[in-house]
Amino acid sequence: MIYQKPVKIGAHIGIGSRVVDPSLVSRYGGQDCQPECKGFCRVPQEAVEEVGGNAFQIFNHNPRFWKVNKPTEEEAQRFIRNMEVYSILPENCLVHSSYLVNIAGPKEDVYEKSILMLEQEIEICEQLHLPFLNIHPGSHLGNGEEYGIQRIGNALNRVFISTAASVTVSTVARTSQTCILLESVSPKGGAIGFKPVQMRYILDQVHPDFRHRIGYCYDTCHGFDAGYDITKPEGVQQLITEIREQLGWDRLKMIHLNDSKFPLGAHQDRHANIGEGTIGMDGFKVFFSFPDWADIPCLLETPGDNAEHREDIDRIRSILHEIDPTQGWEWRT
Ligand code: MN
Ligand code: MN
Ligand code: ZN
Repeated sequence: MIYQKPVKIGAHIGIGSRVVDPSLVSRYGGQDCQPECKGFCRVPQEAVEEVGGNAFQIFNHNPRFWKVNKPTEEEAQRFIRNMEVYSILPENCLVHSSYLVNIAGPKEDVYEKSILMLEQEIEICEQLHLPFLNIHPGSHLGNGEEYGIQRIGNALNRVFISTAASVTVSTVARTSQTCILLESVSPKGGAIGFKPVQMRYILDQVHPDFRHRIGYCYDTCHGFDAGYDITKPEGVQQLITEIREQLGWDRLKMIHLNDSKFPLGAHQDRHANIGEGTIGMDGFKVFFSFPDWADIPCLLETPGDNAEHREDIDRIRSILHEIDPTQGWEWRT
């Protein structure tokens, strides 16, 4: 018998004000976008109709500013309603944290602002009913890995303590269970988190009461940058083994699915469209021929917007169709 697994796939979708096509709005009565919308409420529709997926990633505020603008409660409610209208499961979706956050470095002002930022981002995750917040563990900026990991652990514990005590959503204080995903990053500029073992060291610093609120997001471009050669079966097996041994497979919550503009181990962090980089169509075919990835949502962070992401997803689907079902399983695309 062939065991079939559904593909969970989507892309990063931009928020921010944009003129809404009135014909789209009237077609679905439910998701009436208002002029003051920050863009959340139309994300589920774009994810399905424009990108052609069943999952997505968003920023939950402008990631280039320290000031966080929360969506209004009305907009959050429209977003939640549209998640149901378009049948998108919150656990297949990801919120990416701000680019400014660094909880591994020595600068006190950045450290304190980063902790505050994460707390505010968690409040918005709660508002939107999205369970996962993705962060880069951060850069030690020359102070060494051990120093950086302790800083990260301390910051995460503070964020977990304060948000467990209370997050205010619709003026009601409640206990947050938002899970922070540590993203595998490219090994450059003192960045921590390019190997699963480093994530394990971070996890060791987190108080046991909060470890269930830590997960892992594997980025295929960053991993390739760090030397994980997923274009070869041995490379994929090595990666899977490291994730299993260091973190346990249950910690792996998301995959950032990106091709790479640079060769293996280049430490460059330049994403390419699927099939147009050095991983390539053949490389992704090797990667996806391992059934281990099958339940993990795959989110694209490739160049371009919704239309290009739809093309990337079409390429992924064509790869999945080619995977040999004689191994006993098959993707349901
Ligand atoms: Mn990232
Ligand atoms: Mn990524
Ligand atoms: Zn990147």
